[in-house]
Amino acid sequence: MKFGGSSVADADKIRNVAQRIAAARELGDDVVAVVSARGKTTDGLVQLAHEISDRPDPREMDMLLSTGERISCALVAMALHDLGHQAVSFTGSQAGIFTDSAHTKARIVEIRAERLHDAITEGHIVLVAGFQGMSLDEKNVTTLGRGGSDTTAVALAAAVNADVCEIYTDVTGVFTADPRIVPGAVKLTRISHEEMLEMAAMGSKVLALRSVEFARNYDVPLHVRSSFVLDEGTWITKETPEMEQAIVSGIAHKSDEAKITITGVADQPGVAATIFTVLADALINVDTIIQNMGIDGRADLSFTLPLDELGRAQDALATIQDQLKFSSLTADDQIGKVTLVGAGMKSNPGIAAKMFRVLSENGINILMIDTSTIRITVVIHRDDVARAVQALHDAFALEVQAASRVNV
Ligand code: ADP
Ligand code: ASP
Ligand code: MG
Repeated sequence: MKFGGSSVADADKIRNVAQRIAAARELGDDVVAVVSARGKTTDGLVQLAHEISDRPDPREMDMLLSTGERISCALVAMALHDLGHQAVSFTGSQAGIFTDSAHTKARIVEIRAERLHDAITEGHIVLVAGFQGMSLDEKNVTTLGRGGSDTTAVALAAAVNADVCEIYTDVTGVFTADPRIVPGAVKLTRISHEEMLEMAAMGSKVLALRSVEFARNYDVPLHVRSSFVLDEGTWITKETPEMEQAIVSGIAHKSDEAKITITGVADQPGVAATIFTVLADALINVDTIIQNMGIDGRADLSFTLPLDELGRAQDALATIQDQLKFSSLTADDQIGKVTLVGAGMKSNPGIAAKMFRVLSENGINILMIDTSTIRITVVIHRDDVARAVQALHDAFALEVQAASRVNV
């Protein structure tokens, strides 16, 4: 069971979480519960670091950020004690979560779950601080990137071979679009790991991307549901032949992207490799890449990246300006993305055409286009994102489609 920040925001909510966990235990299940930092604690800690330093050291950043989750899981353990249950809380490293050394966005590389197993065998409910681990090499505290408690939960579920990983949050499940942007969005009963991967990768913050990767790789059934009501939520499972494939299952969006364009790069082998190696070494998460046809031996190259990595990317590219002799490097920090996701897209032509038509009818200019077999993404101006999501949700009648779909 994983509880997000809004589910443990205050004392009453912490008691509510303890009751949900106790109820599961009383039904006879062993429970490992992962808890996030309360409310906006992590945002507050990030802000505090920037009040002290313009470029906080990543190792120290992780020491700071990991505290939020420790507070929550100790408090939930206390609330469980008051309900008469045996409960024990662990930090990520105590829970045996080992990561690489990429501070603030570490990847889990190994889980040594003996201590969890022992505590469960002794009859304890185990609370684990989400979003953190310990680097295998240097034995430093690491964090897993924003939203990383989801990843802790799914990775632990895989490690202890759990029947299900339940993600408790402030919405009743995965919706056809972010309900904060589309009030008419509806809850999906079921969605495949593959579709959810695309939704998460393209901005649906309801689940962290890596948590869905773990769920798919280790075949962990996920159940996203509300902390506050008892209704069934959304099941995210392996795709089965009986599952009806929606042409469009959902719409994801991102509003915190940037675009870099490099003009006049030499149109010859090795240039793209040099550019993207320098960016990879700086740990920049490059996304959509477009290179146009070379004219007179020169080409232009554009790519998108998270807004908060723009400064570092510009610094990294400046180091190869002399070597590559490109004409200019421009950045646009007003970028957003809107993505249609649907497993049925691969066998239904015309979805891209309809998407572009809807955007054009709404006067929305497309800057870049990117596709996979089950998604179409457009890069647009940030100010157009909410309007685009709403217009596409209406045009594809997602509320009607999702409601009428038979989910087996
Ligand atoms: P938690 O703190 O529980 O981890 P998050 O804020 O990380 O919660 O994720 C839940 C939020 O994700 C919702 O409040 C909602 O605004 C947002 N969201 C974005 N896309 C979707 C979607 N397709 N379905 C449901 N929620 C979504
Ligand atoms: N507290 C962390 C964050 O706000 C991790 C999480 O909530 O999953 O990003
Ligand atoms: Mg989250």
